[in-house]
Amino acid sequence: MDKVALGIDLGGTKLDAGIMNGSGNLIARIRCQTEAQKGPKSDIDKIKFVIKSLIEQQVSQKHDIAGIGIGVPGFIDADNGKIITLTNLAGWDDMPLSDIIKNTFKLPVEIDNDANAAAYGEYLFGSGRDTNNFFYMTVSTGIGGGMIISGKPYHGANYGAAEIGHIVIDINGEKCNCGNYGCFEAMASGTAMANFAKKHIGMGEISIIHKLTSNGHIKAEHIFDAAKKGDNLANKLIYKEALYLGIGISNVIAMYNPDRIAVGGGVSNQWDVLYPKIAKEVENRALKHNLKSCDIIKAELGPNAGVIGAAALILR
Ligand SMILES: [Zn+2]
Repeated sequence: MDKVALGIDLGGTKLDAGIMNGSGNLIARIRCQTEAQKGPKSDIDKIKFVIKSLIEQQVSQKHDIAGIGIGVPGFIDADNGKIITLTNLAGWDDMPLSDIIKNTFKLPVEIDNDANAAAYGEYLFGSGRDTNNFFYMTVSTGIGGGMIISGKPYHGANYGAAEIGHIVIDINGEKCNCGNYGCFEAMASGTAMANFAKKHIGMGEISIIHKLTSNGHIKAEHIFDAAKKGDNLANKLIYKEALYLGIGISNVIAMYNPDRIAVGGGVSNQWDVLYPKIAKEVENRALKHNLKSCDIIKAELGPNAGVIGAAALILR
């Protein structure tokens, strides 16, 4: 029988799930909205419902379900399957998520931070193949990171390693969700890009960015669209984005000396536009010795990284 694993990627607004085979391919996929404001019980019920649906889909297939992997946004005691605390979701402190799911489905369960899981998925089945020191960075509504050293996710002293969203890249920068100012995430996430656009437009700068939105709600993708039409503000914001990404990546190169850094998340969809500018910044700023052994590429698994990574915690 073919061994498969379930992968669950819990976010602030959505739950992404699927079944992965031993080659890292998703053979089933479910995505649904979550209602974080209702608290953990609602999310846990949804996780159970999604797992049940995926298992039922497999009844006719002759697959052996090896277990369930779950990626969660926050600090996770991956060794004991316990949530320590979640970043933007309230009420989850000390939740024994692994035991709860194990008791319901009688299958092995592994949990980890979502970026660590995605890093592991990329390492096994995507952009991190054949590396020994692999760093994965996701740039979307926030910025997360995961480091794989000698084939294993690196967790640090209390499961907070590779939280690169909170390295400071501008001491006079924007306020971050963590309470600090000028964090990488507050300066270079997709949300930060959109906030900068709103700020400039609010100050009266001429731009077509807001005209490209359907409801006036600016997202990073509208800035890239506007730049293609020659919008000055959009081009300025993209230059700034590449500058900050270049600084963040240079810091990672100095800290971890990776042989590869892969960039995923929504903003990486604009890799062709961003990469030449990022490369120039990194060339100017990164520690030369460390840069020699490091390539910087776009991640491969795209929106599937979280689910594949979670399932990879089981099928490793
Ligand atoms: Zn921060």
